[in-house]
Amino acid sequence: MQPNCGHLHSIAGSGAPCPPSGDSSCQPSAGAVHIQLGEARESTSSRQGSQSRSHSHGEAGGLEDPAPDSEEHGGSSLSELRHLLQWLHKSLPYLLILCVKLLMQHLSGISLGIGLLTTYAYANKSIVNQVFLRERCSKLQCTWLLLYLTGSSLLLYYTFHSQSLYYSLIFLNPTVDFMNFWEVLWIVGVTDFILKFLFMGFKCFILLVPSFVMPFKSKGYWYMLLEELCQYYRMFVPIPVWFRFLVARGELDSVLGWTLGILLGLLYLILKLLSFFGQLRNFRQVLRIFFTRPHYGVPASKRQCSESDDICSICQAEFQKPILLICQHTFCEECISLWFNREKTCPLCRTVISDHINKWKDGATSMHLQIF
Ligand SMILES: [Zn+2]
Ligand SMILES: [Zn+2]
Repeated sequence: MQPNCGHLHSIAGSGAPCPPSGDSSCQPSAGAVHIQLGEARESTSSRQGSQSRSHSHGEAGGLEDPAPDSEEHGGSSLSELRHLLQWLHKSLPYLLILCVKLLMQHLSGISLGIGLLTTYAYANKSIVNQVFLRERCSKLQCTWLLLYLTGSSLLLYYTFHSQSLYYSLIFLNPTVDFMNFWEVLWIVGVTDFILKFLFMGFKCFILLVPSFVMPFKSKGYWYMLLEELCQYYRMFVPIPVWFRFLVARGELDSVLGWTLGILLGLLYLILKLLSFFGQLRNFRQVLRIFFTRPHYGVPASKRQCSESDDICSICQAEFQKPILLICQHTFCEECISLWFNREKTCPLCRTVISDHINKWKDGATSMHLQIF
């Protein structure tokens, strides 16, 4: 048993707890190890004590000065903050007056922006609802939405027809003074919303197509393609407007102003090119899904359904067109296709089934405002 005891000693010596042993011959030596450990601990603690004492001496001796300095620094930054707050408090009424003046100056722009946003929110929600209702969707509501979106867009372009804002839809420059930043923001913002409305109109049109011409499953892929196309197109549309604004010389009417403008324009184009390549992979994947219409599983047999007690674990009802996934889990075809609009994995075992989330198959339109 000696080698065993030696082993124990070495473990205890290394700081690990002594493992229990039924061998009585081992006990005394194990006790001795404990005593040794205690001594060792004592000696290390005394060493640490002396170290900490010397450290505290060092702190007391060499680092005495920085403490008041940092206090002073903290105090000065605090007083600066207090000054800033006082200034804000004093000038708040003037700032409010200025804000109201700015609001008045851009009242038409701001109210139009709110109008566009509410139109978008209303149309988006209605389209998603109608897509969800499938065969029960109201043709009347879809026609109304189509007319509403077309009417809003035409009314906007008619009201501001002198600015020819519709030019920017096809990469041309509207007849607006480009020296003003707000004008650029106005053109880009309006064009972005109108493009959203246009593609929402296409979605309404697809909703109106009878199901014997285009089945619901196919419509989902069309919504997805339209939304991705819309996002991709909206990425390019502001380029000519921003480029012209950035290249303009401004007040620096010299070679320096001209060079700086060109440099800014080029930087903008490079950034745009980078984001274009970033999105390209995603867009190609969407195109592949649209044309190949991948299947996530195979139709399940009666035996495979009975293995899952004939109950779909998503809708908790009897299977409708059951589909067996590669992970051997069965779901209704409709339930699982709705699930894959948001997820890539099996809802039960989390096996990755799809390599892409079919995010826009529900007819939704992205809220993202493409400003740049
Ligand atoms: Zn189901
Ligand atoms: Zn599974």
